[in-house]
Amino acid sequence: MQKNEELEDFVELSPGADVMVARHGWRAKCLQRLIRLDLPVPHTIALPCEAVRAIASGQMPDTRALAASFGPNFLVSVRSSPENPEWGGPGTVLNVGMNDIVHQALIESHGREAADALYLRFVQNYATHVARLDPDMFHDEPGPDALSRALAAYEAEMDEPFPQDPARQMGEVLRSMARAWEGTTARLLRQAKGAPIDAVLGLVVQEMALGIGPGLSGSGTMQFVDSVTGGPRITGRFRGQSQGRKASVETLYLTCDPRGASLEETSPEVFEELKRYGNACRERLREEMQLEFAIESGKVSIIDAVRVQRSSRAAVKIAVALAEDGVISREDALLRVEPRALSELLHYQVDPRAPRDRIARGIGASPGAATGKIVFTAAAAQAAAARDERCILVRRETVPEDIRGMHAAVAVLTERGGMTSHAAVIARGLGLPCIVGCADIQINPRERVFRGPAGRLFREGEVITVDGTNGEVLVGAAEMLEPALDDGFRTLLHWADNVRDIGVRANADTPDDARTARMFEAEGIGLARTEHMFFDEDRLTVMREMIFADTANDRRVALERLLPMQRADFMALFDIMAGLPVCIRLFDPPLHEFLPHDREGMRELAEALDRPLSEVTRRVEALSEFNPMLGMRGVRLGVTVPEIYDMQARAIFEATVEASRRGAPVVPEVMIPLVSAAREVEIVKTRIDAVASAVKTEMKAEFTYRLGVMVETPRAALRAGEIAEHAHFLSFGTNDLTQMTYGLSRDDAGRFMSTYVNQGVYAEDPFHILDVEGVGELLLIGAGRGRAVSEDVTISVCGEHGGNPESIAFCRAAGFDYVSCSPFRVPVARLAAAHFAL
Ligand code: PEP
Ligand code: MG
Repeated sequence: MQKNEELEDFVELSPGADVMVARHGWRAKCLQRLIRLDLPVPHTIALPCEAVRAIASGQMPDTRALAASFGPNFLVSVRSSPENPEWGGPGTVLNVGMNDIVHQALIESHGREAADALYLRFVQNYATHVARLDPDMFHDEPGPDALSRALAAYEAEMDEPFPQDPARQMGEVLRSMARAWEGTTARLLRQAKGAPIDAVLGLVVQEMALGIGPGLSGSGTMQFVDSVTGGPRITGRFRGQSQGRKASVETLYLTCDPRGASLEETSPEVFEELKRYGNACRERLREEMQLEFAIESGKVSIIDAVRVQRSSRAAVKIAVALAEDGVISREDALLRVEPRALSELLHYQVDPRAPRDRIARGIGASPGAATGKIVFTAAAAQAAAARDERCILVRRETVPEDIRGMHAAVAVLTERGGMTSHAAVIARGLGLPCIVGCADIQINPRERVFRGPAGRLFREGEVITVDGTNGEVLVGAAEMLEPALDDGFRTLLHWADNVRDIGVRANADTPDDARTARMFEAEGIGLARTEHMFFDEDRLTVMREMIFADTANDRRVALERLLPMQRADFMALFDIMAGLPVCIRLFDPPLHEFLPHDREGMRELAEALDRPLSEVTRRVEALSEFNPMLGMRGVRLGVTVPEIYDMQARAIFEATVEASRRGAPVVPEVMIPLVSAAREVEIVKTRIDAVASAVKTEMKAEFTYRLGVMVETPRAALRAGEIAEHAHFLSFGTNDLTQMTYGLSRDDAGRFMSTYVNQGVYAEDPFHILDVEGVGELLLIGAGRGRAVSEDVTISVCGEHGGNPESIAFCRAAGFDYVSCSPFRVPVARLAAAHFAL
C-alpha cells in the first residue's frame, strides 16, 4: 500500500493558520474562528479532504507525525468536518489514544472508576465502529469486570490484543470515518440535503477536555436563543462527570432543573463565562451559535460550536435581531431567511416537536394547519359553522358551488386535483390550509366515510388535522403553533421592499381578501376575479334568470338587478385599497357553472323561475359543453352576450366615481380574459368606452381607466403586438396559459402528475413551477412583441406562479413590472423579489 503523503499536510489550528472551508471543512474553520476569538479551544488539528479521500481509497494512513504533535500519552477526539454542516458525516469518536498506560495514569489522577469507565467506552466504540464487531458483545454497563470482559472479547474476536499504539488507533479511526463518508447510504443522505456528488470530508482531531475530575467537571451544550421562537432564552444541558453532547439521566439543566440545582446556581462564574463566549460568537461570528463545552475541575473548554437549529419563525426573529443590533447588515438579514419559509409564519402550524399520527399524504396546496370535524358536503360545512363547530371539508374535488362550504370550513382536503385545481386556488385565496390530490384516501360520500391507506375508516364528525404545509392528514387534534406576524416579520419585509425592483400585487376577489392583501402590504390588486361574486344565494337566482332570459331586454332587466350588487362589490374593494391600483377582470367562466347539476336543483330552479321543469332541463342541457374550459367563456361571452360586460363596466365606473368622491381618486383597471384575437379586444373596448362616456355624462364626473388584456392563450402571446395596440397592460394568466400550452387540464392533471414528475417527463408540476422553457418562452415572446409596439405597456403575471420564487426570478429577469399572487403568498413574493435584487 502507498504511503499517504497528504496526511502530513495537516494544519494545527491557530489564528493565522491557512484553513479553508473548501479544503478543511466548516468545523475546522469554525474552530479556528473560535480560537481567533480567544475562546479556550483545546489543541486541534485539521486534516484536509485530500488526505481523507486518499485514506478512503485505500492508502495506509501514516499517523506518526500527527500523533506526535499531541505529545506522549494523549487522548483525542476525531470529528467530521464536511464543507457544509447540513451534509452530516460520521459520528465523533472520543478518547482515541486510550491504552493501558493512559488508563493507569488516569487511575492515579481521577480514580479507578472514572478511568475504567473511559477505557470501557473507548473499547466499546472502537470495537463496534472501527473494528465493526457485533455490538451485542460490547454493550456492558460500567462495573467491576466490564473493562476486562470487553478487552477479552476484543482479543477473542480479532485474534490480537486491543491495540495499544495510539498512532495505530488514530489511523484506524481515520480510516473508518473516511470510509463511512463514502458509503452509499451516507452519500444518498447528504445528496438529499443538497450536497454535490463529489462532496468531500475533512476531519478534525482535538485534544480531549475530559469532563471528569475533582470539583466542577462535566460537559454540555448551551445556546442563547429559543430554537422555536427565536427569542432570547438560555437553554442547554449539562451533565456532571461526563463527556460528549449526549447528556442523559443526570442532566442538570442550565436553567431551572426540577430535580436539582442548575449550573447557573451551582457555578455562576462558569455560567457567566459561557455567556460571554456565546456573546463573542454572536458578535464576531455574526450568528447565534450553540456551544459545546467541557469543564474539568472548574476550567472551561469550548470543544465545538454549531449554528443554532431554528424554526422558520426563529430564523426571521434571529436575522432581524442581529441586523438591528448592527451585527449583520439588513441585506444579510434578508438573505438569511428562505422566502418560502415565511408562509409557515402566516398560519397555524403543527408544532414540529409534537407527535404525528399520519393518515395519508397528498399535495400541500395551501399552507398552514387546522383541526376540525370531517364533513363531506358544503351544506354540512355551513351547518357546522352555524353551530360554531370547526370542520374540514373533505371532497373528491370541489366545484364553484362549494365556495360557501369552503368559507365555512377551517381546511379542505380533496382526493383529486393539483396545484391549480379549484380547491387549491380558492383555498390559497382564503388562506385555508388545503391538501389536494390525496390519492391515499378513498371517499364514499354516500356513506359519509373515507378510508385511509391501511383501510382505516374515518366517519363524518371525527376529528382530523390537515397540514397543508407538507400535505399530511393527521388523526385527531395536533398540537399547534400560532401565526407569527410580529414586528420582526414586518420589519424584514419592509427591508425587502426597499431593495426589490419588481412590484408585488395580490389576487383578491372579496373584501376579506383585499384586507388580507393590505395586511401583507401588497401594492394593489392585480386580479379581482368577478365570477365568485355571483354565487351568493340572492345573486345566484338573478344570475340564473339572466342566463335563462329569452330576449336581450329580459337579460338587461336581470342585469339591472345585479348592477347595484356589483357596484357595491367594487366600492368595497376600492375603499379598502384606498387609492392603490385595482385590476378587475371581467366575467370569465362558462355560464353553465351557475346552473344546477342535479334533478333536485333543477326542480328548485323551475320553481324559482316559474317555468316548466322540462324547459329548465332542456336549457341546462343546451348550455352544457363537451370541453367547457375551451368553450364559451371569457371574452367569447363578452362578444356574444355583451350585456354582461356592459353591466360590469358600468358598475366599475359608477363605483369609481363614488369612491373617488369619498376618498382617494381611483383609476380602475379593467381586464379582459381569454383573449385570442386583437379584434375581440377592439369590440369589447368600443363598448366599454361607450359605457365610460355614458357614466361620465350621467354622473357629471371625470375619470380615467386603464384597459388591459389577460394573455392566457398561446395565440394571445404570439399576437401580443397587435393586442398591445388596444391595451394599457398585458397580464399573463399562466394557469390557463400552462393548461393550453401543454394541452393539459389544470383540474385533471393531478391524477398523473406525480407519475410524470417521478419519471422525469416533467421536471416539476408546471402548474406549480413555471415551465420556463415552454410557457416561459411564450411569456418572453408576448412581452417582447407587446413592448415593441407600445413601449410603456405594463407587463405582469397574475397566474398562481406569481407567488412562486423561481417564477418571480424569471419575471424579474424579463423586466416585468409586477407579479400578482394570492394574498397569503404576498410576503413570500416580497422577500423572494428582494433576494433576486441583492
Ligand atoms: C390564469 O388563467 O392564470 C388566471 C389567473 O385566471 P384563472 O385562474 O381565473 O383562470
Ligand atoms: Mg384564466
